[in-house]
Amino acid sequence: MVLDTFRLDGRVALVTGGNRGIGQAIATALAQAGADVALLSRTDPAETIAVVEKLGRRALAIPVDLSTAGPDELADAVEAAVAGLGRLDILVNNAGIIRRAAAVAHSAEDWDAVLRVDLDAVFHLCQAAGRIMLGQGHGKIINVASMLSYQGGIRVPSYTAAKHAVVGLTRALANEWAGEGVNVNAIAPGYIATDNTAALRADPEREQVIRERIPAGRWGTPGDLMGVVVFLGSDAARYVHGAVLAVDGGWLAR
Ligand code: NDP
Repeated sequence: MVLDTFRLDGRVALVTGGNRGIGQAIATALAQAGADVALLSRTDPAETIAVVEKLGRRALAIPVDLSTAGPDELADAVEAAVAGLGRLDILVNNAGIIRRAAAVAHSAEDWDAVLRVDLDAVFHLCQAAGRIMLGQGHGKIINVASMLSYQGGIRVPSYTAAKHAVVGLTRALANEWAGEGVNVNAIAPGYIATDNTAALRADPEREQVIRERIPAGRWGTPGDLMGVVVFLGSDAARYVHGAVLAVDGGWLAR
Protein backbone atom coordinates (compact mmCIF):
# COMPACT_ATOMS: atom_id res chain seq x y z
CA MET A 1 0.00 0.00 0.00
CA VAL A 2 1.28 3.44 -0.84
CA LEU A 3 1.50 4.77 2.73
CA ASP A 4 3.80 1.87 3.58
CA THR A 5 6.31 3.18 1.02
CA PHE A 6 6.74 6.30 3.16
CA ARG A 7 7.83 4.30 6.20
CA LEU A 8 11.49 4.29 7.21
CA ASP A 9 11.51 1.36 9.65
CA GLY A 10 14.94 -0.19 9.95
CA ARG A 11 16.66 2.63 8.06
CA VAL A 12 19.50 4.76 9.37
CA ALA A 13 19.71 8.48 8.67
CA LEU A 14 22.59 10.89 9.22
CA VAL A 15 21.51 14.49 9.78
CA THR A 16 23.91 17.42 10.06
CA GLY A 17 23.03 20.23 12.46
CA GLY A 18 20.23 18.24 14.05
CA ASN A 19 20.57 19.88 17.44
CA ARG A 20 18.21 22.80 16.72
CA GLY A 21 16.10 24.55 14.12
CA ILE A 22 15.14 22.82 10.89
CA GLY A 23 17.61 19.98 11.51
CA GLN A 24 15.92 19.08 14.77
CA ALA A 25 12.54 18.88 13.02
CA ILE A 26 14.08 16.77 10.26
CA ALA A 27 15.65 14.32 12.73
CA THR A 28 12.34 14.10 14.60
CA ALA A 29 10.41 13.46 11.38
CA LEU A 30 12.77 10.70 10.26
CA ALA A 31 12.54 9.04 13.67
CA GLN A 32 8.74 9.33 13.68
CA ALA A 33 8.77 7.55 10.31
CA GLY A 34 10.83 4.72 11.80
CA ALA A 35 14.51 5.58 11.22
CA ASP A 36 17.39 5.53 13.67
CA VAL A 37 19.25 8.82 13.52
CA ALA A 38 22.91 9.82 13.73
CA LEU A 39 23.38 13.49 14.53
CA LEU A 40 26.51 15.09 13.12
CA SER A 41 26.73 18.17 15.28
CA ARG A 42 29.28 20.51 16.83
CA THR A 43 26.93 21.26 19.74
CA ASP A 44 25.68 18.45 21.99
CA PRO A 45 22.37 17.36 20.42
CA ALA A 46 21.06 16.03 23.77
CA GLU A 47 17.58 17.49 23.27
CA THR A 48 17.16 15.82 19.86
CA ILE A 49 18.57 12.53 21.12
CA ALA A 50 15.95 12.54 23.88
CA VAL A 51 13.20 13.12 21.30
CA VAL A 52 14.45 10.32 19.01
CA GLU A 53 14.85 7.85 21.88
CA LYS A 54 11.42 8.69 23.26
CA LEU A 55 10.08 7.61 19.87
CA GLY A 56 11.75 4.23 20.43
CA ARG A 57 14.53 4.81 17.87
CA ARG A 58 18.24 4.79 18.35
CA ALA A 59 20.21 8.03 18.27
CA LEU A 60 23.94 8.64 18.02
CA ALA A 61 25.85 11.92 18.42
CA ILE A 62 28.83 12.39 16.12
CA PRO A 63 30.71 15.51 17.22
CA VAL A 64 32.08 17.40 14.22
CA ASP A 65 32.70 21.07 13.50
CA LEU A 66 31.96 21.50 9.81
CA SER A 67 33.91 24.75 9.66
CA THR A 68 37.20 22.95 10.30
CA ALA A 69 36.62 19.31 9.30
CA GLY A 70 38.33 18.26 6.08
CA PRO A 71 37.30 15.46 3.72
CA ASP A 72 38.99 12.75 5.80
CA GLU A 73 37.32 13.76 9.06
CA LEU A 74 33.97 13.94 7.28
CA ALA A 75 34.47 10.50 5.77
CA ASP A 76 35.31 9.24 9.28
CA ALA A 77 32.08 10.80 10.58
CA VAL A 78 30.05 8.96 7.97
CA GLU A 79 31.84 5.73 8.87
CA ALA A 80 31.08 6.40 12.54
CA ALA A 81 27.38 6.48 11.72
CA VAL A 82 27.66 3.11 9.97
CA ALA A 83 29.75 1.65 12.81
CA GLY A 84 27.39 2.99 15.49
CA LEU A 85 24.02 2.28 13.92
CA GLY A 86 24.89 -0.54 11.53
CA ARG A 87 24.14 0.97 8.12
CA LEU A 88 23.47 4.22 6.25
CA ASP A 89 20.39 4.81 4.11
CA ILE A 90 19.76 8.55 4.27
CA LEU A 91 22.01 11.61 4.49
CA VAL A 92 20.50 15.04 5.14
CA ASN A 93 22.91 17.93 4.68
CA ASN A 94 21.07 20.47 6.80
CA ALA A 95 23.70 22.41 8.76
CA GLY A 96 24.31 25.89 7.44
CA ILE A 97 25.34 29.39 8.43
CA ILE A 98 24.60 32.83 7.04
CA ARG A 99 26.66 36.03 7.31
CA ARG A 100 24.98 39.31 6.48
CA ALA A 101 27.08 42.19 5.08
CA ALA A 102 26.97 44.30 1.94
CA ALA A 103 28.93 42.81 -0.93
CA VAL A 104 31.58 45.54 -0.88
CA ALA A 105 32.11 44.98 2.85
CA HIS A 106 31.79 41.20 2.85
CA SER A 107 34.99 39.98 4.50
CA ALA A 108 37.13 37.17 3.16
CA GLU A 109 36.60 35.45 6.52
CA ASP A 110 32.83 35.51 6.12
CA TRP A 111 33.09 34.31 2.52
CA ASP A 112 35.33 31.40 3.48
CA ALA A 113 33.33 30.46 6.59
CA VAL A 114 30.04 30.28 4.71
CA LEU A 115 31.45 28.41 1.72
CA ARG A 116 33.17 25.88 4.01
CA VAL A 117 30.05 24.94 5.96
CA ASP A 118 27.34 25.49 3.34
CA LEU A 119 29.13 24.02 0.32
CA ASP A 120 32.48 22.31 0.90
CA ALA A 121 31.19 20.14 3.76
CA VAL A 122 28.06 19.31 1.77
CA PHE A 123 30.14 18.01 -1.12
CA HIS A 124 32.53 16.00 1.04
CA LEU A 125 29.68 14.41 3.00
CA CYS A 126 27.82 13.59 -0.23
CA GLN A 127 31.01 12.02 -1.56
CA ALA A 128 31.62 9.91 1.57
CA ALA A 129 27.99 8.80 1.86
CA GLY A 130 27.80 8.30 -1.89
CA ARG A 131 30.66 5.81 -1.80
CA ILE A 132 28.75 3.71 0.75
CA MET A 133 25.39 4.07 -1.00
CA LEU A 134 26.78 3.26 -4.45
CA GLY A 135 28.43 0.21 -2.95
CA GLN A 136 25.16 -1.07 -1.49
CA GLY A 137 23.10 0.00 -4.51
CA HIS A 138 20.66 2.25 -2.65
CA GLY A 139 20.54 5.47 -0.67
CA LYS A 140 18.92 8.87 -0.33
CA ILE A 141 20.75 12.17 -0.12
CA ILE A 142 18.78 15.29 0.73
CA ASN A 143 20.54 18.65 0.61
CA VAL A 144 19.02 21.76 2.13
CA ALA A 145 18.95 24.58 -0.38
CA SER A 146 17.14 27.93 0.00
CA MET A 147 15.09 30.59 -1.74
CA LEU A 148 18.57 32.03 -2.34
CA SER A 149 19.25 29.03 -4.58
CA TYR A 150 16.92 30.86 -6.99
CA GLN A 151 17.21 34.52 -6.02
CA GLY A 152 20.05 36.88 -5.17
CA GLY A 153 18.91 38.02 -1.74
CA ILE A 154 20.18 41.18 -0.08
CA ARG A 155 23.57 41.49 1.70
CA VAL A 156 24.21 37.73 1.67
CA PRO A 157 26.51 37.12 -1.33
CA SER A 158 28.41 34.18 0.19
CA TYR A 159 25.20 32.42 1.26
CA THR A 160 23.58 32.97 -2.14
CA ALA A 161 26.64 31.64 -3.94
CA ALA A 162 26.76 28.57 -1.71
CA LYS A 163 23.04 27.82 -1.95
CA HIS A 164 23.01 28.20 -5.75
CA ALA A 165 25.94 25.78 -5.81
CA VAL A 166 24.12 23.28 -3.59
CA VAL A 167 21.42 22.99 -6.26
CA GLY A 168 24.01 22.56 -9.02
CA LEU A 169 25.78 19.91 -6.95
CA THR A 170 22.50 18.12 -6.24
CA ARG A 171 21.74 17.89 -9.96
CA ALA A 172 25.29 16.88 -10.87
CA LEU A 173 25.30 14.02 -8.34
CA ALA A 174 21.79 12.95 -9.34
CA ASN A 175 22.94 12.60 -12.93
CA GLU A 176 25.84 10.38 -11.90
CA TRP A 177 24.08 8.31 -9.27
CA ALA A 178 20.42 7.94 -10.32
CA GLY A 179 21.22 4.85 -12.36
CA GLU A 180 22.97 3.29 -9.35
CA GLY A 181 19.94 3.41 -7.06
CA VAL A 182 20.95 6.55 -5.18
CA ASN A 183 18.49 9.46 -5.11
CA VAL A 184 20.00 12.92 -4.68
CA ASN A 185 17.51 15.73 -4.17
CA ALA A 186 17.19 19.03 -2.36
CA ILE A 187 14.64 20.84 -0.23
CA ALA A 188 14.41 24.61 -0.59
CA PRO A 189 12.80 26.04 2.55
CA GLY A 190 11.14 29.41 2.30
CA TYR A 191 11.30 31.88 5.16
CA ILE A 192 11.29 29.71 8.29
CA ALA A 193 11.25 31.02 11.85
CA THR A 194 14.60 29.81 13.25
CA ASP A 195 17.79 31.42 14.57
CA ASN A 196 18.93 31.70 10.92
CA THR A 197 16.24 34.32 10.27
CA ALA A 198 16.18 35.93 13.72
CA ALA A 199 17.78 39.14 12.41
CA LEU A 200 15.11 39.50 9.72
CA ARG A 201 12.26 38.88 12.13
CA ALA A 202 13.75 41.32 14.67
CA ASP A 203 13.47 44.15 12.11
CA PRO A 204 9.74 45.00 12.05
CA GLU A 205 9.82 46.56 8.56
CA ARG A 206 11.75 43.70 7.02
CA GLU A 207 9.56 41.14 8.80
CA GLN A 208 6.39 42.74 7.45
CA VAL A 209 7.69 43.05 3.88
CA ILE A 210 8.68 39.38 3.86
CA ARG A 211 5.48 38.12 5.48
CA GLU A 212 3.26 40.11 3.13
CA ARG A 213 5.05 38.64 0.11
CA ILE A 214 4.39 35.04 1.24
CA PRO A 215 1.14 33.81 -0.35
CA ALA A 216 0.47 31.58 2.67
CA GLY A 217 0.53 34.74 4.78
CA ARG A 218 2.89 33.48 7.49
CA TRP A 219 6.47 32.46 8.14
CA GLY A 220 7.13 28.75 7.95
CA THR A 221 8.01 26.63 10.96
CA PRO A 222 10.59 23.82 11.12
CA GLY A 223 7.65 21.41 11.36
CA ASP A 224 6.56 22.46 7.86
CA LEU A 225 9.62 20.61 6.49
CA MET A 226 8.86 17.29 8.16
CA GLY A 227 6.62 15.72 5.50
CA VAL A 228 8.89 16.50 2.58
CA VAL A 229 12.03 15.08 4.18
CA VAL A 230 10.25 11.81 4.99
CA PHE A 231 8.99 11.64 1.41
CA LEU A 232 12.43 12.23 -0.13
CA GLY A 233 14.01 9.79 2.31
CA SER A 234 11.56 7.04 1.46
CA ASP A 235 10.78 4.55 -1.29
CA ALA A 236 7.83 6.75 -2.24
CA ALA A 237 10.40 9.05 -3.89
CA ARG A 238 12.25 6.25 -5.68
CA TYR A 239 11.89 7.92 -9.13
CA VAL A 240 12.62 11.45 -7.89
CA HIS A 241 16.15 12.47 -8.86
CA GLY A 242 17.80 15.89 -8.96
CA ALA A 243 14.64 17.67 -7.81
CA VAL A 244 14.54 20.77 -5.67
CA LEU A 245 11.31 20.81 -3.69
CA ALA A 246 10.37 24.27 -2.48
CA VAL A 247 8.57 24.37 0.86
CA ASP A 248 7.99 28.09 0.84
CA GLY A 249 4.34 29.00 1.42
CA GLY A 250 4.19 29.91 -2.27
CA TRP A 251 7.10 32.43 -2.23
CA LEU A 252 8.49 31.28 -5.59
CA ALA A 253 5.09 31.19 -7.22
CA ARG A 254 4.61 34.89 -6.55
P1 NDP B 1 19.82 27.45 12.59
O1 NDP B 1 20.75 28.62 12.62
O2 NDP B 1 18.66 27.40 13.51
O3 NDP B 1 20.62 26.08 12.71
C1 NDP B 1 21.80 25.89 12.00
C2 NDP B 1 22.33 24.50 12.29
O4 NDP B 1 23.56 24.32 11.58
C3 NDP B 1 22.61 24.29 13.76
O5 NDP B 1 22.33 22.97 14.13
C4 NDP B 1 24.10 24.55 13.81
O6 NDP B 1 24.76 23.97 14.89
C5 NDP B 1 24.54 23.91 12.52
N1 NDP B 1 25.88 24.37 12.20
C6 NDP B 1 26.27 25.63 11.86
N2 NDP B 1 27.59 25.69 11.72
C7 NDP B 1 28.06 24.44 11.99
C8 NDP B 1 29.35 23.87 12.04
N3 NDP B 1 30.45 24.59 11.81
N4 NDP B 1 29.47 22.56 12.33
C9 NDP B 1 28.37 21.82 12.61
N5 NDP B 1 27.13 22.30 12.59
C10 NDP B 1 26.98 23.59 12.29
O7 NDP B 1 19.33 27.45 11.08
P2 NDP B 1 18.14 26.71 10.33
O8 NDP B 1 17.64 25.57 11.11
O9 NDP B 1 17.20 27.76 9.90
O10 NDP B 1 18.92 26.23 9.03
C11 NDP B 1 19.10 24.89 8.67
C12 NDP B 1 19.38 24.85 7.19
O11 NDP B 1 18.27 25.40 6.49
C13 NDP B 1 20.59 25.67 6.77
O12 NDP B 1 21.27 25.02 5.73
C14 NDP B 1 19.96 26.96 6.25
O13 NDP B 1 20.77 27.61 5.33
C15 NDP B 1 18.72 26.39 5.60
N6 NDP B 1 17.65 27.33 5.36
C16 NDP B 1 17.03 28.00 6.38
C17 NDP B 1 16.00 28.87 6.09
C18 NDP B 1 15.28 29.63 7.15
O14 NDP B 1 14.43 30.47 6.78
N7 NDP B 1 15.50 29.39 8.41
C19 NDP B 1 15.58 29.14 4.72
C20 NDP B 1 16.30 28.39 3.74
C21 NDP B 1 17.29 27.53 4.05
P3 NDP B 1 25.17 24.85 16.20
O15 NDP B 1 23.95 24.86 17.09
O16 NDP B 1 26.32 24.13 16.76
O17 NDP B 1 25.51 26.24 15.72
